[in-house]
Amino acid sequence: MNLYRNGLISLLIVFGVVACSPAPEKFAVFEKPVASEIALEAHLEFLASDLLEGRDTGTRGHEIASAYIVSQFKALGLEPAGNNGYYQRVPFRTATLVADSPKFHIHNGNKTIKLAYLDAFTASPSTFAEKLEVTAPLVFAGYGMVSDQFNLDDYAGLDVDGAIVVMLSGRPDGLPSEAAAHLGRIKTELAIERGAVGIITLHTPTQEAVRSYAVSRRYATNARRMSWLTPEGVPNGDNGQLRGGAFLHYEAAAPLFANVELTLDDIWQQIEANEMPKGVALGVSATLYKESVFAEIDSPNVIAKLTGSDPNLRDEVILYTAHSDHLGPVNNKEGAPKFNNGAMDNAAGVAVMLETARMFVEAAKNGEHPERTIMFAAVTAEERGLLGADYFAHYPTVAIENIVANVNLDMPVLLYNFADVVAFGAEHSSLGDVVAEAAEMHGIKRSPDPMAEQAIFTRSDHYALVKKGIPAVFLMTGFESQNEGEDGGAVWGDFFAKHYHNHSDEISTLTEEYGGIRYDAGAVFTNINYDIGRIIAGAAERPTWLVDSYFGQVFAGDENSIRH
Ligand SMILES: [Zn+2]
Repeated sequence: MNLYRNGLISLLIVFGVVACSPAPEKFAVFEKPVASEIALEAHLEFLASDLLEGRDTGTRGHEIASAYIVSQFKALGLEPAGNNGYYQRVPFRTATLVADSPKFHIHNGNKTIKLAYLDAFTASPSTFAEKLEVTAPLVFAGYGMVSDQFNLDDYAGLDVDGAIVVMLSGRPDGLPSEAAAHLGRIKTELAIERGAVGIITLHTPTQEAVRSYAVSRRYATNARRMSWLTPEGVPNGDNGQLRGGAFLHYEAAAPLFANVELTLDDIWQQIEANEMPKGVALGVSATLYKESVFAEIDSPNVIAKLTGSDPNLRDEVILYTAHSDHLGPVNNKEGAPKFNNGAMDNAAGVAVMLETARMFVEAAKNGEHPERTIMFAAVTAEERGLLGADYFAHYPTVAIENIVANVNLDMPVLLYNFADVVAFGAEHSSLGDVVAEAAEMHGIKRSPDPMAEQAIFTRSDHYALVKKGIPAVFLMTGFESQNEGEDGGAVWGDFFAKHYHNHSDEISTLTEEYGGIRYDAGAVFTNINYDIGRIIAGAAERPTWLVDSYFGQVFAGDENSIRH
């Protein structure tokens, strides 16, 4: 690869100059930059400290984290690449439900059935309107999924224009997990495109085993919803067409199907048999109503760049992302620490990104300047739904078509001496080979995704960029360890089960439980992430989607299927 070629050329130049120079110490042979364990430790300790109060989006703690990142970028001499220096401020509206305001009435002829809020249905706050009400006919549309690739069209033969769509929660078995997760996440857009004015998501007995109604109910009642705002002040993804939504318990759903032959039992049987339940107009209508209270805040993405050295390639940008926000204070847990400090999620990822940035700067000073431009973005509101990254994807501070790759850093679990890495997204683009090559330089191999069912490729910031057609890769420490007798997968799984999104994801608890944060493993992880960017920066061609992969088919060249 170009990396070696350039390395060789600089060596030749250096020796050439040394041979005829009277001051050889000025021309020391360039050594590749190496990640510093102590720098990772310093960044992580600051970002995961109580002082930052859990770095929740829109709080002073997150502002301090952002100011720290700005300071680091500036000290490194990186160029500002936000729209206000290093900052890109993202405007948000937050919404919370007015307690007990949601109503769900079913109209069948001149009969009206009132469903009980919380026991029969839940609702989430709206960022669009403080009072939201709709009355419209109901149309059942199966899972509400559409995909040419998988020959799915739950809307076939249905007219949902002006209707409230009733769709099943979850998704059919048998689809590749990442494709299924992607198709699941665009259900609302698909309904809007077809003219729906409301969505009722019907919980199923099958889904009860995956995520119980009680859990959804608990989340819904405490939920604070957040949307970023367009320059016109309109919440993203909501053009006002959807005027209502509800999450309906299957035990309360019978009145919806009173006028059709299709029964709930038929649907549950079809789901069990992995058939796609067919849609039908239900011949009843419903009124959905709820009230929300709004607040407006803003919160920063922090963005810097190192302009590439090659005049022909420097317009092309490799974008590193790491979210700087986390979950804020701990609520309702007696005796618990006060804050969710998010040491692994994602103080660790930001620390790795800052150290990666330093390595690029060091290399550039030593004549190993990356050919393409390298950009670093610490994005906000990941924990609120990838919102900072999504805002950047809609309002990029560099032409979006010039972003050739995204390397995302989110929650590297630096608690064991990993021997392999997993690269989410590797099967979908040429970046899979890049990761394998970069890892191999450090004696680490690339393993396949050990938990495909989690569909992690759709669960962090890079996904906002993937939806714009940008090939992305996201590395996690694999399940093998270099230490004899250490089961990396067991440590990872233990962390995920006990500490992920818990106040115990903090340095002292993790140190007590796992014997310390493994900054040495963090340095290896950083070296690999640096080399991934370095290889892309110098490659002859920009990365490409693999045409035979699912995302390759969705995003390569077919502009109609790019989803916004
Ligand atoms: Zn998280």
